[in-house]
Amino acid sequence: MNSKDEEEIRLRKKIVEVSRRLYDRGLVAGAGGNVSARIPGTQEVLVTPSGLCKGHLKVSDIIKVDLDGNLIEGNLKPTSETPMHTEIYKVRSDVTAVVHAHPPVSTGFACSGVSLDCPIFPDAIAMVGDIGKVEYITPTTRELAKKVAEQAKKYDALVLTNHGTITLGASLEQAYQRTEILEDYAKILLVSILLGGPKPLSEDEVKRIKGLKAEKYRLKYIKQVE
Ligand SMILES: [Zn+2]
Repeated sequence: MNSKDEEEIRLRKKIVEVSRRLYDRGLVAGAGGNVSARIPGTQEVLVTPSGLCKGHLKVSDIIKVDLDGNLIEGNLKPTSETPMHTEIYKVRSDVTAVVHAHPPVSTGFACSGVSLDCPIFPDAIAMVGDIGKVEYITPTTRELAKKVAEQAKKYDALVLTNHGTITLGASLEQAYQRTEILEDYAKILLVSILLGGPKPLSEDEVKRIKGLKAEKYRLKYIKQVE
């Protein structure tokens, strides 16, 4: 087996693992959400199948498509949100993984029009960064995929109005953790709103966290789990 095949198997296993973690943490429900990874050095993308619960996927359920979403390999139908993933890979050569979820608290903010943009939590500032917002467009459409890709040029985390979240990463672990931390941050923000209003960090501190600590945070999180 060559190294490309080995890498593909590793990615398939990791997509199954990340999908299960999304389901186990309540970041997706039913067959909602989807996960993908680009096979390094290729135009090929591995995606989760349509209509199956993320908590119980098998390695053989993962589907391979090209960057236009055409089926290369797999017995099931690729997620109906495949264009959202492939359009992101077309505009972000540094991104090798995309996680789309419906985390209840982040999505609650996205459904109420209340902004998630409030620098209160250093982990979110360092690991997730600024959060882009995509207007409501019917799920699974090309139009949504194009709008998502436009915003993905500037952000590693997006909130889709009345829909959910998307996080990008240089690895599946990083893309997954960004979703997890984004949802944690949304919970913290919600609690701080309930307790009388969040007290944002100063602009200088935000800059400091983004600059100095970002790399340290990333290394700490990514190294221990890759
Ligand atoms: Zn969705």
